[in-house]
Amino acid sequence: MNEYDTQVASGLLSHQGYSQAESEDEADVVIMNTCSVREHAEDRVFGRLGMLGKKKKEKPDLIIGLMGCMVEEHREKLFKRFPQLDFMVGTRNISELPSIIQEVSKNRKQVSKIKQDGISIEYSDLVERNSDFYAWLPIMTGCNKVCTYCIVPITRGIEVSMPAHEVYREASRLAGEGVKWITLLGQNVNSYNGTNQLSVGAGLPSPGRGDLAPTIHGRVGFPQLLEMLCEIEGLERISFTTSHPQDATEELFRVIAKNPKISRRFHLPLQSGSDRILKRMKRLHTYAEYKEKIDLMRSLIPDVSVTTDIIAGFSGEAEEDHQATIQALEEIRYDSAYIYKYSLRPATPAAKLPDDVPREIKSERNQELLEIQKKITIEQNRKSIGQILNAFVEKISTKAKKGTDNNSCLLPFLIGRTDHDKKLVFEGGPSLIGKFVQVRLDDTYHETLIGTLIS
Ligand code: SAH
Ligand code: SF4
Repeated sequence: MNEYDTQVASGLLSHQGYSQAESEDEADVVIMNTCSVREHAEDRVFGRLGMLGKKKKEKPDLIIGLMGCMVEEHREKLFKRFPQLDFMVGTRNISELPSIIQEVSKNRKQVSKIKQDGISIEYSDLVERNSDFYAWLPIMTGCNKVCTYCIVPITRGIEVSMPAHEVYREASRLAGEGVKWITLLGQNVNSYNGTNQLSVGAGLPSPGRGDLAPTIHGRVGFPQLLEMLCEIEGLERISFTTSHPQDATEELFRVIAKNPKISRRFHLPLQSGSDRILKRMKRLHTYAEYKEKIDLMRSLIPDVSVTTDIIAGFSGEAEEDHQATIQALEEIRYDSAYIYKYSLRPATPAAKLPDDVPREIKSERNQELLEIQKKITIEQNRKSIGQILNAFVEKISTKAKKGTDNNSCLLPFLIGRTDHDKKLVFEGGPSLIGKFVQVRLDDTYHETLIGTLIS
């Protein structure tokens, strides 16, 4: 979501005549797009603000701004703590960025624009994508769940979905510009619940083809939205992130199974393998219920690749809870997982619980989970060696290929993504960028697949 917001911000600013500086030293305006999910990310922003404050002493005209979730969390309090900070833009105010910068440079006063409600999604043809063929597409923001550790409901507010016809229109616009792969974004993407005023829907003809289908007014859930988007000509792949287990339904699995355009990767955060901890986190399911969903998903979409998020060392986590998480990783055998140490976030419900897993134990558990998962990821990837994979070619890299001498052999190689959203590298020329190709998987290197172009 932040990457998308950054692309919108830079598109809006480029349109106003700004251009990206070669380095921070050359910049007249420095904007940090921030995340609040873990303390570490916030600390880095505070550190950078300190450094920028020093720079501003030498260069008083420097304008320093913040956007993203930290603005929503800390609000104007940050102006007192960091007098060097010139402006703050809330997640729902990105379109005001150019006028805010103008206001700051004119009046040299601290400015904040932080809206309380509405949706933080801007569909703009000014969005500065970093690929001609790939695009992010946010469809909802906010979260109505109350996982006790999580700050998202505080920073992003309640769930708001973009109307389905707007999503459809934006996806069609992107496809018209040559985009082939979109990733639908939302803090809880699969609880999407939008209104619809389009004459499209599952099985109905799409507009632009001259059909006079009746207009559907009503609610559209995530599975129906996916079906609508699959009808867009030119769009070849649709991924989505991040899903909550409660909204991962059989209906959704069936829609994925019958639509080859939808990515075969399903990211479904588990957080912990222990029922006691899941309850303390208010995750709304037990491990057995979650596992049942994974089994159902795998039976309906046999080639699906499942990935997850795990939090190590949540409040009250005993050794047996940690062992339950290890067991879950070994039983489910995810294709990959994001594993992070629990980070207490002020104002979340868990802030009232003790952060009582000692720091070293948290690190040890985190490390152990990472090592176990790394082994499983490699084993899962190596299962496909010898198979022909479908891959979307994203870009070319001129860095040396693994196993070659960095200095003497600079073979260009292509970087692609498989239908399971895995990174795949293989030799080839730039004319293949933006195309789908067939690649034989020969080897793996860490989480990267290495192959040979077939056609
Ligand atoms: N909506 C998604 C997750 C969005 S937040 C879901 O319900 O699963 C992305 C991830 O950040 C979470 O899955 C969680 O693993 C991690 N996360 C959130 N708060 C955290 C915290 N306080 N400490 C450590 N990790 C956290
Ligand atoms: Fe956070 Fe996801 Fe839970 Fe919402 S569902 S509170 S975003 S972890």
